[in-house]
Amino acid sequence: MRKKIVAGNWKMNLTAEEAVQLNRDVENQIMDPKCDIYQFTPSLYLPLLVEKEGYIQIGAQNGHPEKKGAFTGEISMFQLQSSGVQSVLIGHSERRQLFHETNDFLKSKVDAALENNITPFYCCGETLEERESGKHEAVVIDQIKEGCFHLPAEKIRKIVFAYEPVWAIGTGKTASPEQANDMHRLIRNAIAENYDNEIAENATILYGGSCKPTNAKELFTMEHIDGGLIGGASLKADDFIQIINTLN
Ligand code: PEP
Repeated sequence: MRKKIVAGNWKMNLTAEEAVQLNRDVENQIMDPKCDIYQFTPSLYLPLLVEKEGYIQIGAQNGHPEKKGAFTGEISMFQLQSSGVQSVLIGHSERRQLFHETNDFLKSKVDAALENNITPFYCCGETLEERESGKHEAVVIDQIKEGCFHLPAEKIRKIVFAYEPVWAIGTGKTASPEQANDMHRLIRNAIAENYDNEIAENATILYGGSCKPTNAKELFTMEHIDGGLIGGASLKADDFIQIINTLN
């Protein structure tokens, strides 16, 4: 059975105090989660949250592939690992678009994360223009192939995939459950073709893009959707908890 996950991406939001409170509020109100829960926090708050006891897994929103060196402002996967961080977002559309991260660079992040025993949450997704011109499937499959399909079978199993159509992120527009499920099926089929059916069936593929309490259930009950990567709604404990509870 594949793993179900609900993960919050806090982006560049919250004060240190608010971050700790949000983590505590979610943990106190969900006693027996039926899925794995992650919070991807600003890197500054990682030590505060990683050292707390609790079942919510704390991840980084970014990590540099080089182990160390002259990369002012960056934090390496190696350094994340040395601080006890065990998961990282790679390939988020904001990193791809605002920071010009290419599939090739993301591939090196995937490798560095795995070398440091950090689980990559590998994000992919098309822009509105790419969808409207019918290129969305090719774009998403290329992102995955170029970032992840160089990995041997025992390593591809460690990747959590997140399909996040760029036109749905932070816009209030959600992909329909069918649109999302179709893309998730396509990703699963690509994994089966490049590896095998067992690996594909066990791959966790999350949906992200304006997922909220009102639409989470219809998305999460689709065959190929194994949970969500949540931006805006992960910043409010009540909304995030309601989303988690749709999987309970
Ligand atoms: C995200 O940034 O990963 C995301 C899914 O954002 P939102 O839920 O706000 O659309």
